[in-house]
Amino acid sequence: VDDARIALQALADRVEGIAHPTLRLGVTGLSRAGKTIFTTALIHALTKGARMPVFEPYQSGRIARAELQPQPDDAVPRFAYEGHLEMLGAERRWPSSTTRVSELRLAIRYATRRGSLKTLTLDIVDYPGEWLLDLPLLNMSYADFARQSLALARAQARAEVAAPFLAAVADAPASGPADEARAREVAARFTSYLSACRSERLAMSLLPPGRFLMPGDLEGSPALTFAPLDVEDTPSRADTLGGMMERRFEAYKHAVVRPFFRNHFARLDRQIVLVDTLSALNAGPAALADLERALDGILAAFRTGRNSLVSTLFRPRIEKVLFAATKADHLHRASHDRLEAVLGRLVERARERAQDRGATLDVVALAAIRATREARVRRGGHELDAIVGTPEAGQEAGGHVFDGEEEVAVFPGELPADPDALFDPSGAGFRGLASSMAGNGQDDVDFRFLRFRPPADIGDGPIPHIRLDRALQFLLADRLT
Ligand code: GDP
Repeated sequence: VDDARIALQALADRVEGIAHPTLRLGVTGLSRAGKTIFTTALIHALTKGARMPVFEPYQSGRIARAELQPQPDDAVPRFAYEGHLEMLGAERRWPSSTTRVSELRLAIRYATRRGSLKTLTLDIVDYPGEWLLDLPLLNMSYADFARQSLALARAQARAEVAAPFLAAVADAPASGPADEARAREVAARFTSYLSACRSERLAMSLLPPGRFLMPGDLEGSPALTFAPLDVEDTPSRADTLGGMMERRFEAYKHAVVRPFFRNHFARLDRQIVLVDTLSALNAGPAALADLERALDGILAAFRTGRNSLVSTLFRPRIEKVLFAATKADHLHRASHDRLEAVLGRLVERARERAQDRGATLDVVALAAIRATREARVRRGGHELDAIVGTPEAGQEAGGHVFDGEEEVAVFPGELPADPDALFDPSGAGFRGLASSMAGNGQDDVDFRFLRFRPPADIGDGPIPHIRLDRALQFLLADRLT
């Protein structure tokens, strides 16, 4: 039934697309990866202009203008572009992040290479990447899910934060009575464990079920009161705690994961996946390994549906996927290619394992909004490459509390020329990363986690960015010829 509905929707979208060529672009990534900022910057660049030498249709002057349009789907909230821009401009603060799906439609008027005027309708769909990591659950039984989740929780990197949750699991035998209070207790501990994994220190990525972290409008709903238990492979008896959890897990798949797949994901043509690679690098090898597994899961999500009726009747819907390492303005220009290489490496391994040859993939390191500038600073007789920005108020480094007004020069660590070094099981690559920062004379102060305020004077004028134009060239240019 699902497949038929997806196929019908795809057909309707196509018919609509004949009259009005339309591209549905998904913007996703885990929480804090930079979706809200990217989407805001993208809309601003297309409607107000920006410096985008690499985005050919724009650079050559063929894009006349892009305009905001009423969105097609009445049931989906609109992306709060104006509010976000106001916050960035008037208050010089980062707007609040994505917590649910939202949409915005742009009409891009452009001249084809031959000179005729056309319009491409661009539907931008911003949604939490946590929800994407749920798609693999569709092919899992409760027993599979429980086994995998518990194995992850018991792994060394997570064992410490998982302890209270694992204790609750030990106290909740799957064959025991189906007790609501106990189910709530385990689910609550499971949820706290998942959010603890997301902390800056651990920066873990692979944490399904996604709605436990990003409930959207399901906050507090019974669909979210299950947790993995130690269960046998065979389905648990209905009147046991295991049976109760299993029913709720199935309900979650049915009521939450499937509708998301059908109503949003299956309708996307292209996708940008934003990845906060720097946070994972800062947190260490375990976070990086976890991110790799999460990206693996995300790539698997893009294959979901390929073998279905949809793909036999129609071309695979998602034709292009761009993985983007965000916040590249935290690094000096010299490291941008290296950051790209690290992400390329993360995706490459996932791809090899998955043997995925469907959609076209690319990687880029970008800053949708550039909050820093580069400078050369003298330190102990040497000139060093530094980045200069205004740290957000209230943060502390080396005993100094920033007031949100002063500018500081930071020496970002140097990423290794060969990304393989970071994946070396001995951890040598990470020690190199740490010592490259220590060598810059800031071993006593951890500047790596500083958050900078957005640049001053965001308004109608161009917003500074890094490689946003490269992203647009990959995602849009071939539809604007
Ligand atoms: P979301 O949860 O994916 O929607 O993440 P946001 O777009 O809200 O970004 C989370 C935070 O990351 C922001 O509040 C900023 O502090 C930071 N951030 C995002 N994009 C950029 C960027 O391009 N440059 C810098 N310096 N910081 C960014």
